[in-house]
Amino acid sequence: MAPSAMNRWTTALSDAQPAPFWLEDPGRPRPEAALTGPETCDLLVVGGGYSGLWTALVAKEREPQRDVVLLEGREVGWAASGRNGGFCAASLTHGAANGLTRWPDEIHRLQELGTRNLDEIEAAVARHGIDCDFERTGEIDVATEEYQARELRDWYEELDRRGLGDGLEYLDADAVREQVASPTFEAGLYDRRGVAMLHPAKLAWGLKAACLRLGVRVYEHTPALDLKPHGGAMAVRTPYGQVRARQVALGTNIFPSLVRRVRSYTVPVYDYALMTEPLTAGQLDSIGWKNRQGLGDSANQFHYFRLSADNRILWGGYDAVYPYGGRVRAEYDDRPQTYAKLAEHFFRCFPQLEDVRFTHAWGGAIDTCSRFSAFFGTAHRGRVAYAAGYTGLGVGATRFGAEVMLDLLSGESTERTSLEMVRRKPLPFPPEPFAWTGIALTKWSLARADAHGGRRNLWLRTMDRLGLGFDS
Ligand SMILES: Cc1cc2nc3c(=O)[nH]c(=O)nc-3n(C[C@H](O)[C@H](O)[C@H](O)COP(=O)(O)OP(=O)(O)OC[C@H]3O[C@@H](n4cnc5c(N)ncnc54)[C@H](O)[C@@H]3O)c2cc1C
Repeated sequence: MAPSAMNRWTTALSDAQPAPFWLEDPGRPRPEAALTGPETCDLLVVGGGYSGLWTALVAKEREPQRDVVLLEGREVGWAASGRNGGFCAASLTHGAANGLTRWPDEIHRLQELGTRNLDEIEAAVARHGIDCDFERTGEIDVATEEYQARELRDWYEELDRRGLGDGLEYLDADAVREQVASPTFEAGLYDRRGVAMLHPAKLAWGLKAACLRLGVRVYEHTPALDLKPHGGAMAVRTPYGQVRARQVALGTNIFPSLVRRVRSYTVPVYDYALMTEPLTAGQLDSIGWKNRQGLGDSANQFHYFRLSADNRILWGGYDAVYPYGGRVRAEYDDRPQTYAKLAEHFFRCFPQLEDVRFTHAWGGAIDTCSRFSAFFGTAHRGRVAYAAGYTGLGVGATRFGAEVMLDLLSGESTERTSLEMVRRKPLPFPPEPFAWTGIALTKWSLARADAHGGRRNLWLRTMDRLGLGFDS
């Protein structure tokens, strides 16, 4: 590689802080006090990310008299919910392709429930006055290789044939570059209504404020240490107190579940992102990005990118790193070698922006499961519900997961709980060293497929047949 190009991205990254841009906002609220002493409630929610926050909020909206407590081990929104790309998608299935392969008989219903879920997020943001830069500007999946352009066109036609193409538009190279001018774009599939862009941390903080206004008692810096049945209810121990609750909802994502048997269904996969400084009017003009939609490219190792409210570009994805042993550790949140790779790819996509610098670079753990979309269940005779496994597409879907957990705790059968996607679990991951070896082989094969016109090798074809995979 030419030294000048290498210098360009090294220089561009030289002042980048290794911290999530979103969490540095001056609007970051003070944490609520930790729990000290005993508490009792009808519903205890564990986890202060979107999963837990939506569960507490929707529980109160469904039944205002319900007594709800939420425990967060650190601060609301510090984990994936405050550091993600902010693509809030209608899809509940990690994209229509994954949903169609796994649940062909209910994909129409899943798509419809997903659209309704996104509409409800939009309505809740307005109803609760949540200032999270919510913009329903859609997303374009872009092809950056000829073969991807052909695949995108075929996929668009298939969706149309199956009655799933509503609101989608195929863009040829000129049309996609008219939306956003990158010399690498060969085609695009534009979903104008199915995705919103938002400020992830502000959504978490706004949900917390809404919960507090509705009377949810939120305790931060209060990890739930264990969960046990106790005389017809559940008891949760915390460092300085305990909670007795009639029911418990777990929104603990990739952190070790308080229901042990759930743990093997997910592995942490680290995803990384860069944020540029705000673009000048001239820079923005040079890439022609007027409609503010999000974008993602269509290789197996894909990038996602979008504008912030103050016209920075968030550029993330590509490397999906699984650490041997599958632990969540702060040290994995920072990965300079991935930042360098991402910066290189950014300038390849937008050579017009050669003077732009990055202000932030960070990573976070994604709760990957083998079917790429959330799974749900209950424990302790239906008194505890859980939802996890959103695999990199949980900003919108966690609200649906919250509804499912509340439905399951109600004991009533609903449209949501009757879905096969809700009733069935994914295959668990094997223990080490098999998990690491299988994931490494899959990642190697996916990278090879990207470099060889998308052709999937025997390993990937076998995994496809078994309905297994690895994604972020
Ligand atoms: C870098 C990155 C980019 C992403 N980009 C996107 C995107 O653009 N679009 C998209 O849809 N998805 C994206 N995702 C995924 C998305 O952020 C997650 O699916 C979503 O935030 C999950 O929400 P959650 O509430 O389940 O988990 P989290 O936000 O991880 O919250 C779980 C919370 O539970 C708490 N907790 C855990 N155990 C306990 C305990 N025992 N006691 C008390 N508290 C506990 C944790 O402290 C944490 O705050 C991305 C993720 C990452 C990391």
